[in-house]
Amino acid sequence: TTRSSADLIRAEEPVVAHNYHPLPVVVARAEGTWVEDVEGRRYLDMLAGYSALNFGHRHPALIEVAHRQLDRLTLTSRAFHNDRLAEFAERLAALTGLDMVLPMNTGAEAVESGIKVARKWAYEVKGVPADRATIVVAAENFHGRTTTIVSFSTDESARQGFGPFTPGFRIVPYNDLAALEAAVDETTAAVLLEPIQGEAGVVIPDEGYLAGVRELTRRKGCLFIADEIQSGLGRTGRTLAVEHEGVVPDVLLLGKALGGGIVPVSAVVARRDVLGVLRPGEHGSTFGGNPLSAAVGTAVVDLLETGEFQRRAAELGVVLRGGLSALLGKGVVGFRARGLWAGVDIDPAVGTGREISQRLLREGILVKDTHGSTIRLAPPLTITSEELEGALGALERVLT
Ligand code: PLP
Repeated sequence: TTRSSADLIRAEEPVVAHNYHPLPVVVARAEGTWVEDVEGRRYLDMLAGYSALNFGHRHPALIEVAHRQLDRLTLTSRAFHNDRLAEFAERLAALTGLDMVLPMNTGAEAVESGIKVARKWAYEVKGVPADRATIVVAAENFHGRTTTIVSFSTDESARQGFGPFTPGFRIVPYNDLAALEAAVDETTAAVLLEPIQGEAGVVIPDEGYLAGVRELTRRKGCLFIADEIQSGLGRTGRTLAVEHEGVVPDVLLLGKALGGGIVPVSAVVARRDVLGVLRPGEHGSTFGGNPLSAAVGTAVVDLLETGEFQRRAAELGVVLRGGLSALLGKGVVGFRARGLWAGVDIDPAVGTGREISQRLLREGILVKDTHGSTIRLAPPLTITSEELEGALGALERVLT
């Protein structure tokens, strides 16, 4: 390309919908933990595509599998079988300790599909009267942007102007087992939660909450759907965030890193008695389970089976927490971290999250603010401790 970053940013303005407010950097190349802009400036990626790039940009093993698959077969639709889907499903089910996989593409589609499956299960297995099923969700949740999903958002900017909304959801405070207990009744198909609330600012529930949700849902006879689209696949130091409490949900939603940063791949993974409620013609996706996605997704499972990325996240998480602790009172008023994932609350006197992100950009570090004064750190799990310390050093500089 011969167009400058400034030129390309200007060119987007009239022709690309303004549903995002990107930082002013135009990325043209990337490898591992580093991206390069149009002018050749290098940046350390501390966002990793909202955890879609857990294995870094263009991980060689994933790129090789993708190239090989591009040369053989890319799409069949599910009107026919393809020779990659069986292995992907077998391996993903084995990795997660569940039985069956419904392959989809984006995170929001996995959430929508999980909701449909839970409702069907409620009517066919639990015996909830027709059209009466409810799903209990948490305040401050983020599960995506479709009309049904924003129906149970508590973020007004996600909802304003997009009604009418889908009924059938009950919202309770997060991290509050008593409120959950009170909300679940005989109409409840499922409790749908993020084991750690990502977009809310990496909000980690108290120890015992997830195990409590597991016990409560089992006792009350409804499903526990864990949305691990952002928390899963190595980010927290385990394959799944629910593993920190030894919990196996009935339904697991995966996305983002499942596509290795190459293709959109998501999945509903569940026990056979749950996903088995779907029959031909009741749900589908033209691209879900396509051979390119299945091949890349299988290669992602290969990487996770080594345990290397989970181990790195756990070990480097210690460095991350140590660095953030040292900044408490020096521009950082609080933080929450697990593995290589942190929500950092900036002292509003020092700047907004957006301003801190802009200052870090000038230091060659890519991050993104979430709410007002919180920034989120979620680097590729391939980051080195030197790179991580470099990012923490830059954060210290921009706070003072
Ligand atoms: N669920 C969670 C927990 C997420 O963090 C996200 C995306 O940030 C989604 C669902 C939606 O995923 P997608 O943007 O791929 O639709």
